[in-house]
Amino acid sequence: MSDKQATEVRLDRDNGRVLITWDDESRLQYYLDDLRNQCPCASCQGHSPGEVEPPQVKGVLLMNIAEVGNYALKFTWSDGHDTGIYTWSYLAKIGQPVIA
Ligand SMILES: [Zn+2]
Repeated sequence: MSDKQATEVRLDRDNGRVLITWDDESRLQYYLDDLRNQCPCASCQGHSPGEVEPPQVKGVLLMNIAEVGNYALKFTWSDGHDTGIYTWSYLAKIGQPVIA
């Protein structure tokens, strides 16, 4: 089974969220605080569950979205953090369905 790929990544500033459209036509949303706090990097999540206190940032802004290869996204946050690599499979797991 191959992972879903994103076909469109959009920052919806007005609603403070990122919208991702996938190649199976589904769409998921990510509120910025949640997305920041679920940063998968080792300094945010530790190398094993419970090793570090996960971040609890509030009111963060997204400064930049960059593609990493064709398998992941990297976000630059207004708190200066930018080391998290969010793979498509991770994003597909943490996204919330968009209720139209
Ligand atoms: Zn992080």
